[in-house]
Amino acid sequence: MLRRLSERTQASKPTTAPCLAIGCRTTIPMEAQFCDRHAALLQDDIKRLLGKHYRPGKKQSAVFQRYLEMARQELLEAQHLGHRVPKPAEFEW
Ligand SMILES: [Zn+2]
Repeated sequence: MLRRLSERTQASKPTTAPCLAIGCRTTIPMEAQFCDRHAALLQDDIKRLLGKHYRPGKKQSAVFQRYLEMARQELLEAQHLGHRVPKPAEFEW
């Protein structure tokens, strides 16, 4: 409870942000893109690309947004099938 209150007092300069997965309301550090649960469902390749192009606290590039779309699609499929689906060929370009 006390920890939650102290987090709120820092709201003027946010250091946390919501997970980028659609419909996920988990709060994570600003530098991260996904919560642990969603990060575990994603390929390492797409996480690496997102991390490389991510700009904390700034407007994201078109490149980042394209990778984010891919990641969200991957999450939808993983959640639908209930497990992670490897598609290495998609990331060779
Ligand atoms: Zn999440």
